[in-house]
Amino acid sequence: MKIGIIGAGQLGRMLALAGYPLGINCIFLGHDQHSPGGLVSAIHVGELDNTTDLNSLATSVDVITYEFENISVEALESVSSNVPVYPQITALATAQDRLKEKQLFESLRIPTADYVSVNESADLKSVGKTLGWPVVLKSRRLGYDGRSQHVVNSTSELESAWNALNKVPAIAESWVNFKRELSLIGVRGANGEIAFYPLSENVHEDGILRTTVAPYEDAAMHNTAKNWLFEIMEKFDYRGVLTVEFFHTEKGLVANEMAPRVHNSGHWTIEGAETSQFENHLRAVLGLPLGNTKPRGHAAMLNFIGSMPNIIDTLKIPGAHLHDYCKDPRLNRKVGHLTLLENSRESILKRLAHVKTTVTQTLAS
Ligand code: AMP
Repeated sequence: MKIGIIGAGQLGRMLALAGYPLGINCIFLGHDQHSPGGLVSAIHVGELDNTTDLNSLATSVDVITYEFENISVEALESVSSNVPVYPQITALATAQDRLKEKQLFESLRIPTADYVSVNESADLKSVGKTLGWPVVLKSRRLGYDGRSQHVVNSTSELESAWNALNKVPAIAESWVNFKRELSLIGVRGANGEIAFYPLSENVHEDGILRTTVAPYEDAAMHNTAKNWLFEIMEKFDYRGVLTVEFFHTEKGLVANEMAPRVHNSGHWTIEGAETSQFENHLRAVLGLPLGNTKPRGHAAMLNFIGSMPNIIDTLKIPGAHLHDYCKDPRLNRKVGHLTLLENSRESILKRLAHVKTTVTQTLAS
């Protein structure tokens, strides 16, 4: 069983590692032999958007998946006649474009923040009147980890922000006053078999995920979110892991965005669930039975951003599961994470707070 993975970052690395015990062989298409994925499994060095490179990967694998969203839909379509590509390219095309994503949520009656589509300067004039201030201006494409988005408080700030985005097609989104951020990860396999992890509670700083605590137990919200993911998956006849990020507001859940792939807010599932999101993604795209998504107690995941903490100090933390992606340190770069497990929400929150303050991170300049 061979899976071609487009992209060779940490998500790909964790997919490959999940494949080893099952005898699943992952081959990456990536830029660099020394990438997180390339260090643990075979890599075709090439361009992710190059049809020839994609076709050469396709000749040696049974199925293609991707761990990176900003890849060319056209190039993927050209290989899909030779080898199946999962998750479906139509789902990727929707997730790549914030406007299409909003329209999908609207068509399925999934609540989402109000927005104004911005294509030309004239569109900026009505934003304040329609949405009030502040608003978040986000490029429709290529934005992740808080990149290509600006929080603005007036029409003139909005104009400057759009200039800073080089006037690319964008959306202006109303500011959501949320109590917390949650995400739901689901997985759909062959013949519509489906499973969901519990809700995860996520804290972002500067648009980048810092911590996840799971499960966030709220049966009613979990059911609502599960129904929405179910609808999205049915719509695309989806195969693989799907993540939707939500704002938890006074009025309930508001969908922020979807990711047709394994997700940072599911890293805790490696040690914290019966079957990790990575293993379940592999199972789904290969048409194998899905694994149990039940949590093993309460988990917390702490991202290392910029640089890794001291390994000796970190390994002294009882029960710490350390993941080093073997990336060079760089500002705002996700370079690793740590997962902790406890028996109750109260104790996992306490431990996370303690570990956050004790793990010293020396940020590389
Ligand atoms: P995104 O790239 O859309 O996932 O945004 C990254 C993070 O920015 C989110 O997880 C939120 O913490 C914050 N954010 C994005 N959009 C909004 C919004 N409309 N209102 C409030 N916070 C937002």
